[in-house]
Amino acid sequence: MRNLQKKLMFFLFICIILQIIHTIPVYSLNEFYQNNSLSNFESIMFNNQFISKYSLQIICIMAMICIMLILYIIYDKLRFRIKLQKVAYTDGLTGASTMDKFVIDANKILCKNTQEKYALLYIDIDKFKYINDLFGYEVGNEILRNLTKIIKNNIFEDEIFARISADNFTIIMKYIEEKDITNRLNIIFEELDLFNNDQEEKYKLVLSCGIYFILSEDRDINSIIDRANIPHKMAKGGHKSSYAFYDNKIHDQEIKEKEMENTMFSSLENKEFIVHLQPKIELDTGEIQGSEALVRWKSSNKGLIPPNEFIPFFEKNGFVINLDLYVLEEICIQLRKWIDAGINPVTISVNVSRIHLYCNNFIETYKNIIDKYEIPAKYIELELTESIIFDNFDILIDIMNNLKKIGFLISMDDFGSGYSSLNMLKEIPMDILKLDQKFIMETYNSNRSKIIVTKVVEMAKELGMKVVSEGVETEEQFQLLKEVKCDMAQGYLFGKPMPIEEFEKLIMYSSIK
Ligand code: C2E
Ligand code: CA
Ligand code: CA
Repeated sequence: MRNLQKKLMFFLFICIILQIIHTIPVYSLNEFYQNNSLSNFESIMFNNQFISKYSLQIICIMAMICIMLILYIIYDKLRFRIKLQKVAYTDGLTGASTMDKFVIDANKILCKNTQEKYALLYIDIDKFKYINDLFGYEVGNEILRNLTKIIKNNIFEDEIFARISADNFTIIMKYIEEKDITNRLNIIFEELDLFNNDQEEKYKLVLSCGIYFILSEDRDINSIIDRANIPHKMAKGGHKSSYAFYDNKIHDQEIKEKEMENTMFSSLENKEFIVHLQPKIELDTGEIQGSEALVRWKSSNKGLIPPNEFIPFFEKNGFVINLDLYVLEEICIQLRKWIDAGINPVTISVNVSRIHLYCNNFIETYKNIIDKYEIPAKYIELELTESIIFDNFDILIDIMNNLKKIGFLISMDDFGSGYSSLNMLKEIPMDILKLDQKFIMETYNSNRSKIIVTKVVEMAKELGMKVVSEGVETEEQFQLLKEVKCDMAQGYLFGKPMPIEEFEKLIMYSSIK
C-alpha cells in the first residue's frame, strides 16, 4: 500500500515535470541539438545561455519540486499522527473510545448542545477480577467486548461512551427526566443478563453504576467523572445490577473533604489535633491498667471534631499516616514527662491505620520515634483493626513478628465487628484481643451470645492473649464481663476519652472502684 502510494507520487511528479518542460518550445530544443553536439548536450543544458533563457521555467520546476516535497512530508506526518491518535483514542480490546478521546468528545458535545440536559454514568462490573481468575482472561475479555456492544447499541446521537480503564465504562447520556436515564440503564442491565444466559458457563454479571446529572456550570470532565464515581462505589456490593445518584449529601461531603484537605497540614503544624486518653480498667482490681489514645480535631471555627468525621477521609488520601505518627509522638512526649517525673506510666495504645502496612519503612519509623524519646516499647500498644487480616496475611504476620521483636504490644481492635475468622486467631501473634462493643451489647441480649463471648475469651486466653472489652456502658455489662473472666474493659462506665491532663490526674490520685 505504501509502495503504491510512492509510485503514484512519482508518477504525478513526472507528469508535472513533463507538463512544465512542455512549456519550453520544441524549436528551442531543436536549435540546441543543431548548434551543439549530443555529447556536450548536458553541459550546455547547464551553461549560462540555457539557464538565462529558461530561468523562469527552471525556477518553476524547482519550486514545484519543493512544494511537492513539502506536501509529501506534511501528508506523511499527518498520516502518522492520525495513526497514533487512532491507537491513543481507541481501546484495542473493545474498539470503544479511550478516556482521552472521551474527554475530548465530552467537551465538544457539552459545548455544542448547551440546550440539552446530560448525565454522566460511571459503570463497572462487580468482582470482575474474580471472573478473570475463575474463568480466565479470554472469558473476561469477551464480557468486556459484549458490554461494549450492549452500551454501543443503546447510545443515541450526540451521546458518547468509553472504556476508561479495566472494567470501567463511562457514558454521557441525554435526558429530559431522571427516569429516562434509569429506564435506559435498566435496558443495559437486562441485555447483559440475556448475554449471560446464552453462555455455556453461567455466572452472574452485576453492574454498578453511579449517575451524575451534569450542571451547566460544570466545566472539567475529569471532576464530572469523579462525581459519578462516588455514587458508583455506593451502588456496589449488591446481588443485582444497581445504580446510585450523586446527591446533595455527597456534594456537601465533597466540600467538607476539600476543606479538610486544604487545612490538614497546617492544622497538624499548629497542633490542632488533640490527643485524648480513655482509661482501660483491669476487671479484677478495678485499677487503670492502660489507656487508648484517640485523636480529635480542634478546629478554630467548628470546635472539637470527632475522628469518625475525618479519619475515614484521611485513610483515603493517606494523611492518616502523618496523623498516626503525630499521635505516637505526642504519646511519647507524655510518657517521657511521666517517666521523668517519677510516675509509673500505664501502657498507652495508639491506633495504627492499615495503610501503614504498605509503607516500606513503617517499622523503622515507629522505632525511631520511641527511640527519640527513649521510651521502652513495652509502654506502647499498637491497635491494628481486625479487617487488616484480609489485606495480606503473610506480610501482616511478618510485620507483627518484627514489631514484637522490638517490644511493642500488639492488639487486634474491633474484633467481632466484621468477618472475624477465629481460625486465623491462632496464627496471629497478638498480645491483646479487643472485643468490639457489638459483642458486649449482644451478649447482654441473648444467652447464645453469652456462650460465644465466654468461648472467645477462653480461646484467646489459651492462645496466650489478654482480652479487653470495648464500649462498656452499664454495671450489668461490667458484672457479666467479670463473670466470663474477661481481663480488661474500656467504656463510658469507667471514663470517656479525656484530655491528657485530666487522665494524668486520674492515674496520679486514684484508682477506679
Ligand atoms: P476505636 O479505635 O474503636 O475507638 C473506640 C471508640 O469508641 C472511640 O470513639 C471511643 O470514644 C468510643 N467509645 C469508648 N467507650 C465507649 C462507650 O462506652 N460507648 C460508646 N458508644 N462508645 C465508646 P472515637 O474516639 O470517636 O474514635 C472513633 C474511631 O476513630 C476509633 O475507633 C478509631 O478507629 C478511630 N481513631 C481515633 N483516633 C485515631 C487515631 O489516632 N488514628 C487512627 N488511625 N484512628 C483513630
Ligand atoms: Ca482502637
Ligand atoms: Ca475499637
